[in-house]
Amino acid sequence: MAKYKRILLKLSGESLMGKQKFGIDAERLADYARQIKEVSDMGVQIGIVIGGGNIFRGLSGASEGFDRVKGDQMGMCATVINSLALSSALGAIGVKTKVLTAIRMEPIGEFYTKWRAIEAMEAGYVCIFSAGTGSPYFTTDTGSSLRGIEIEADVMLKGTRVDGIYTADPEKDPSATKFNEITYDEIYTRGLKVMDLTATTMCKENNLPIYVFNMDVVGNLKKVMDGEEIGTLVHN
Ligand code: UDP
Repeated sequence: MAKYKRILLKLSGESLMGKQKFGIDAERLADYARQIKEVSDMGVQIGIVIGGGNIFRGLSGASEGFDRVKGDQMGMCATVINSLALSSALGAIGVKTKVLTAIRMEPIGEFYTKWRAIEAMEAGYVCIFSAGTGSPYFTTDTGSSLRGIEIEADVMLKGTRVDGIYTADPEKDPSATKFNEITYDEIYTRGLKVMDLTATTMCKENNLPIYVFNMDVVGNLKKVMDGEEIGTLVHN
């Protein structure tokens, strides 16, 4: 039996680049799709939010002279591109998906509503929630907290390229140690950069646990669903 019945999986846009400097690496995409299929086959209801940083970021765009709101809208469109890519990769291996958009753009995807999402997940579709929150000045981390809470997910699984939350950045500080569990409050007091604070606060206030794990190791998503403690659990 899978540990969770309904999950919100957050994937970063940058991870999709694989070894490339920009865009989408077909191999990484296929790896993700296979891992998602594995847990979908276990009967887990899956909602996914994917970032857009591999294509465009509103804030960096603004520093290059783009209007911030238009830049953020470009960033949201980037998440739609990634969502379509993931939907296509999942479709290729026989997984039914529904791309829902936070901004109306039929026929690319259906306009998101909580009920449309739940109905689709209950019918066995993997739902991909694209265009973030639909509003500028937010991130897809906040989009994931929002969707995770709305769809009443048991957990938000944050797939990253590190295997959890450390006392310091393990890529910079070799003495950093990993937490198996941590509270939201400790994230604030230690100043740890797990997600942006808006996203963390939403999870805290609505009691949505976050599980941070390394999604770039093939098979890890299934391990999380099997209850193996390979990452860090954030809770109240
Ligand atoms: N974005 C937005 N509103 C949202 C979600 C995303 O404006 O609700 C934009 C924002 O410009 C962001 C970009 O989309 O930089 C890509 O999203 P992601 O969360 O990947 O951005 P990152 O955290 O990498 O900047």
